Amino acid sequence: MSARLLDGVTIGNEIRAEVAPEVAAFTGRKGRPPGLGILLVGDNPASEVYVRNKLKSAGEAGIRADLERLPATTTMADVLAAVDRLNRSDVHDAILVQSPLPDALGADAERRIFDAIAPDKDVDGFHPVNAGLLVQNRASVAAGTPSGIIELLQRSKIPIAGARAVVIGRSDIVGKPMALLLLHRHATVTVCHSRTRDLPAVSREADILVAAIGRPAFVTRDFVKPGATVIDVGINAVDDAAMVERLFPPGSKRRDAFAKRGSIIVGDVHPDVAEVAGALTPVPGGVGPLTIALLLKNTLTVARARAGWA
Ligand code: NAP
Repeated sequence: MSARLLDGVTIGNEIRAEVAPEVAAFTGRKGRPPGLGILLVGDNPASEVYVRNKLKSAGEAGIRADLERLPATTTMADVLAAVDRLNRSDVHDAILVQSPLPDALGADAERRIFDAIAPDKDVDGFHPVNAGLLVQNRASVAAGTPSGIIELLQRSKIPIAGARAVVIGRSDIVGKPMALLLLHRHATVTVCHSRTRDLPAVSREADILVAAIGRPAFVTRDFVKPGATVIDVGINAVDDAAMVERLFPPGSKRRDAFAKRGSIIVGDVHPDVAEVAGALTPVPGGVGPLTIALLLKNTLTVARARAGWA
């Protein structure tokens, strides 16, 4: 058996095509486009790529997107001042602070900065007020990646209600909101983490298995019930030739890409899972494009709500 590939690029494009005319309508009515302020602290190369893609996609959808960069040596006070400027801006409806933040800002940096974002401009729903609303199933937006996964499941006609869902990962930005969104759509949800006992056995109970771990090819075929839907959230840069040779056969596109670039992105799910799963998101081209599409949709939602048109 070979899993059906769930194409995030096509579904992401569908969502973007739906958002663009609504952005145009907003702009016509409000006299300015929805505005997104992005804060990028430091020089993480992966974040540079993500932010470039977000700016480009926002521009294509007609959304005003502005990037504010701060150096890796910046202080917490500087970051909080930048957030405050965006909070007070009349042209920015939505604020996104790109993760990860430089280690030098401290272990609690993400929390302190998310806490400082005005809740009504919090495009990812990370502010504790919005996280609380999500727990109670009354949030208007939730983090882009898990929201994108819900869109992917729904548009791919994969039933969620009544399904057994297992989420591996309990981060505030992916695992927890994913579990809540699945729960609110009536899945029976189990959340796993590094202390879970017999993770393969728990995972094998899943009709929908979401891997948000950050370890390349961690989820092997023994984690997967035959026919299950497997969602691979992981984005892991791999520059180890031996690992690439173990994972991908000679002559495969992934090996060629590695030979060209010396590094490739590998998900949290082992390629062999395609022989067991019923449906699977590829990496790249699965969850990533949906995260961006949902950022655009969430920006519009937040802008409308701020204009009183929700
Ligand atoms: P994170 O904050 O590092 O959380 C990782 C989670 O995985 C933690 O809950 C951790 O458990 C769990 N974990 C780690 N090792 C494990 C193990 N051996 N067994 C079971 N669980 C284990 O990461 P994140 O921010 O949620 O991101 C997860 C992955 O998704 C990363 O690869 C990231 O790059 C990717 N990502 C992709 C997108 C996208 O658009 N596609 C967006 C966001 C993130 P503990 O809590 O016990 O430590």
